[in-house]
Amino acid sequence: MKLRNPDREVELAGGRKIHDVLGELGINPDTVLVIRERELLTREDRVGDADVIEIRPVISGGARTGNRMKCRRCKAPAVVEIRRHNAAFCGDCFLRYVREQVKRAIASYDMFEPSDRILVAVSGGKDSLALWDVLLQLDYHADGLYLGLGIGGYSERSHQVARSFAAKRDAHLVEVDLARDYGFDVPTAGRRGSRSTCAVCGLSKRYVFNRAAREGGYDVIATGHNLDDEAATLLGNTLRWQTDYIARQSPVLPEEDGFARKVKPLYRLSELETAAFAFLRGIDYVVEECPLVAGNTQLRYKEAMNQLESTSPGTKAQFFLGYLDRAAPLFAMQDEVRLVGCERCGQPTTGRFCAFCRARAQILRERLEDPAERGSPGGRSDDRETAEALADEVMPVEIYGTPRR
Ligand code: AMP
Ligand code: ZN
Repeated sequence: MKLRNPDREVELAGGRKIHDVLGELGINPDTVLVIRERELLTREDRVGDADVIEIRPVISGGARTGNRMKCRRCKAPAVVEIRRHNAAFCGDCFLRYVREQVKRAIASYDMFEPSDRILVAVSGGKDSLALWDVLLQLDYHADGLYLGLGIGGYSERSHQVARSFAAKRDAHLVEVDLARDYGFDVPTAGRRGSRSTCAVCGLSKRYVFNRAAREGGYDVIATGHNLDDEAATLLGNTLRWQTDYIARQSPVLPEEDGFARKVKPLYRLSELETAAFAFLRGIDYVVEECPLVAGNTQLRYKEAMNQLESTSPGTKAQFFLGYLDRAAPLFAMQDEVRLVGCERCGQPTTGRFCAFCRARAQILRERLEDPAERGSPGGRSDDRETAEALADEVMPVEIYGTPRR
């Protein structure tokens, strides 16, 4: 039996159900795809002694695993089990289920119209490539946007995967590179700036996504955030009662004052579902996790949610979808912020310079403003401003990691 990520091989006795094999390995069945010769297996499938099985983690940051069951729609043998719906699907019906969930998400939040130009932020991971694939299949005008973060081999593989996906489908990929276009990469930013690596990476992504969408004339920017991402973020925001971030955790943020509309069409689908979709569609994606993300607080929230989900399937969906249906209106956005153009780059900000330009100046050791003007009276803390300046921030800076000073 082959275990991937980390790559290791373990010999185990066959003649058992996947469920038992995973139990022996201490793996939660809801967090892995179990693959035998390009075929997906479910918890009740049996493996023989001679089988070579790949266990591919789908949850960022950990592994946990999950009859020959029958497809709910067509009664063929099932390949994917969705415990929270108490359902299983064959490959074709599962692909249809995923597309239906995306269509439902788009319709319930009026995310975009068939005539809109969509820019899909693609990281090379399963979620964003699955999203791009679905939107293209549904005949939307969807281009991709890849941002090179300069994280060694991880970024190179991600770029390669995004490019070859685009080439295969004859789709257009917009490419931005932090080092080439802005003079720094994420590892350097983490070392030199006052913010944690994940915080400055998140800030750079939001900045570049918005700028590329505005400058490229796109109507909307779409990201691959899934149900697991959103539930973990909501958990973090709720634990701190960050009511302003909670209020912003909507699957659609409307266009306003220089900010492009932002949508998350995968918010109804779990990480296991997007991984199974990508696999069944033959999408080559980067399985490995960003090497800089270790210890990231959000991963711990995902693990906590997965533990609850393993004993009570449906917890994640109840938590996040229940929030959207019943609690979100209670957190309606309170304070109106006045946005002006950044004196350096023109992107919207609450101050003279936007959070990205300030972070960049610090990393490149450039001076943006007169030292006398630093720490203007009544100024809020830098971290808070960072979070607010881009207006779509949904997670407090602390979640990305403690800023170093
Ligand atoms: P993450 O912030 O890594 O959880 O990614 C959330 C979403 O941001 C992904 O689903 C993508 O839509 C987008 N994204 C992340 N990294 C990149 C990247 N390097 N280039 C373009 N889009 C990205
Ligand atoms: Zn700026």
